[in-house]
Amino acid sequence: MRNLLIFLLLLGAIWWVRRALTRPRNGASRGAKKVAGPERMLACAHCGVNVPESEGVRDGEVFFCCETHRSLGDAGKGD
Ligand SMILES: [Zn+2]
Repeated sequence: MRNLLIFLLLLGAIWWVRRALTRPRNGASRGAKKVAGPERMLACAHCGVNVPESEGVRDGEVFFCCETHRSLGDAGKGD
């Protein structure tokens, strides 16, 4: 009977340790997602729409939301 009690305590300890080990890992992966998630948003020089840097097109110093707006050019420069 005493052995059974020790066995149950051991099971509980293993469960507690496993929970303690897996919990920070979940938090870390969530944190990593948070870090990787917010990407730099840049405004298109033609239409002014904010687009993630990776999805837009760069023309030297100027940023555009798409290839079409890059060919149309900066709205501020006129035509
Ligand atoms: Zn645009």
